Order: sequence, then C-alpha cells, then structure tokens
Amino acid sequence: MAQRPLTVIKGDGIGPDIVDAALSVLDAVGATFDIEEVAVGKAALDGGADDPLPDDALASIERTGLVLKGPVTTPSGGGYRSVNVAMRKHFDLYANVRPTISLPGTKSRYDDLDIITVRENKGGMYSGEGQTVSDDGQRAEALSVITREQCERILKFAFEMARARGRKKVTLAHKANIMKSTSGLFLEVGRELAEQYDDLEHEELIVDACAMKLVMEPKNFDVIVTTNLFGDILSDLCAGLIGGLGLAPGANIGDKCAMFEAVHGSAPDIAGQGIANPTSVILAAALMLDHIDQPERATQIREAVRAAIAEGDRTTPDLGGEGSTSSFTEAVISRL
Ligand code: NAD
Repeated sequence: MAQRPLTVIKGDGIGPDIVDAALSVLDAVGATFDIEEVAVGKAALDGGADDPLPDDALASIERTGLVLKGPVTTPSGGGYRSVNVAMRKHFDLYANVRPTISLPGTKSRYDDLDIITVRENKGGMYSGEGQTVSDDGQRAEALSVITREQCERILKFAFEMARARGRKKVTLAHKANIMKSTSGLFLEVGRELAEQYDDLEHEELIVDACAMKLVMEPKNFDVIVTTNLFGDILSDLCAGLIGGLGLAPGANIGDKCAMFEAVHGSAPDIAGQGIANPTSVILAAALMLDHIDQPERATQIREAVRAAIAEGDRTTPDLGGEGSTSSFTEAVISRL
C-alpha cells in the first residue's frame, strides 16, 4: 500500500538531531511515511540555494500537505525575513494550536494542566501591514488588520476542535474594551458563533485578566481562542506553567496543509553537543498523527514520553538529567 507522503524539514542548530529523534519514534510506533526531505532557511542557503525558501521546498509542501519541521534560525535585525512567517502566509496556515499538558517529573508549579491555546496565525498586530518609522525616527506606526472571515474561521476551528476532542469550555480572550474595532469584531463574531455550540461552555475574558487567572487558577482553563499577538503571549505563558518551551509542541493548520513543529528555536548555544531535548518535536509528531487520524499511535507516543520523563530515564540536562538526545529517544522507544 502506498505510504502517506510527508515533507520533513530538519532545520538547523539542534533541529536535525531532534527531528531524527522524532522520525525514529514514528518509525518505532509503526507510523511510516513516504518522506521528502527539503531544506529551508540557513540550511538551504548553506546548501547553495539562492533563496531561504527554495521552490523545491514549496513544491514538496504543496504536494504532501503535511510537514514535520525542526526549528529554523531567523537572523535578528537585518538579513532575510522569517521563513516560518513566510510559510504560514504562503500555505494559509491560519490556526496555531498549542497544547500544554503537564508532564510529571518536570519542574513546574502545577501537575495536572491540560490547556489548548488556539491562536489566529495571520492577522492582527502581526499582519505586517502599515509598518513605518518617520524619517527622524521619532514616530512609528503599525496597522492591526483582521477580517470577519479570519475571525470566523479561527473561532469556528476552535469550537469544532473543542467539540471533536470532547472538551468542555472555550475561553475567548480579547481586549474589546480598548481595541474596539479589531478585538471588538473578534468578540462579536465569537458571540454569534457560540450560540451554535451550546453544548460547550463559553467564557469571555479580557486578555490581561486572562493572563492573571492563568497564573492563579490555570486548572479552570480548557481551550483558549484568541487573536495573533495575545495568542503568542498566552501560549508561552501556558508553556511556562508546565515547565518551559522545551516540552511544548505546536501545529500550524490550514485547510490544505498542516505543519507540526517544536515551539522552541534552534538553540545555537547547545547545537552540535547531542544534548538537546527532543520532547517538543516528538510530541509535535504525535499531534501530526492525531491530525491524520492515527490517534492510537499518537497516544502511545505521548504515554511513552510521559513515562520516560516521570521515571527520569536518560533525560537530557535541561530536565536535570545526564542523558543525551539519542539516549532519551531510546528511553521513549523502549516504552512504546
Ligand atoms: P531557543 O528556543 O532556540 O533557545 C532558548 C533557550 O532554550 C536556549 O538556552 C536553548 O539552549 C534552550 N533550548 C531550546 N530548545 C531546547 C531543547 N530542545 N533542549 C534543550 N534546551 C533547549 O530561542 P532563541 O535562542 O531565542 O532562538 C534561536 C533561533 O531560533 C533564532 O534564530 C530564532 O529566530 C529561531 N526560532 C525559530 C523557531 C521556529 O523555527 N519555529 C521558533 C523560535 C525561535
């Protein structure tokens, strides 16, 4: 039987090590793919491409519609634009989904959190429109643009996802009291849609209060849906509640394409040392299996990761262990 095609982008820095780890876990759980490996960003340029987002990478993603991706370095200040942002735009990956689930054995203040943040991934303050700085450098402007269509599809996505996963509550985080146009539109559309989902509890919170409540009473949260900038911040806050970015996977989802990755970056400070924690990208691979209707395998992977971390079996230095990327990966595989 033909295998499902998958585009793999290993990225740079710690990317290749942790993506290899995730691929060996997928293989061990019996999830095999017809893999097309392509390079973007620094890896593409180092390999002789003239563009950080080469045509062969775009064509592969277009063909497969499914991507497992390692972190990609973006130069700060000058240099080329973020390939991550470019890919989100090019493939219309409008929903950023970040589950944060407590892992026993890690340092965190709470031990049984399970929150999913759904972030609008293209508009709002990150739409990149109208960015100007006056000639004298004394005044800067940026436009926040969001359309009814963007609000509808992200809110619908969140409600549908909550229903499909048997979740109980959707919290809409906004700032419609001050940002009356953009956040106001988001809230208005959220209220309209909530009426079609009366099986789910609907809560509205102003984003600053939402941040405080997340820190004080995180167990009251289930699914959070919000606009781009607020989602970026609240999802990192949630990752902090469970012990940091190194454990958090993320998915960028569109109607024709979905990309699964670790939430953290390329960690240049530890690249090449073989000690990067592969957990985020292994959990991203599990999210990918959920997405392609292989939930049993996804659960097997999550349970193996949980058990290996809880038992401190060959965990990497960021978790206080003395293991390596490959020894921790073996610890996970031995539990599948
Ligand atoms: P980073 O997430 O790479 O690193 C922050 C700190 O966390 C570092 O001390 C690092 O060693 C540690 N860390 C990160 N991942 C780890 C892991 N798996 N195991 C152990 N420790 C880990 O953040 P940064 O240094 O700000 O960014 C480095 C580069 O990554 C930048 O160029 C940035 O643009 C890029 N980046 C890419 C993505 C992406 O591709 N999706 C996301 C974030 C940052």
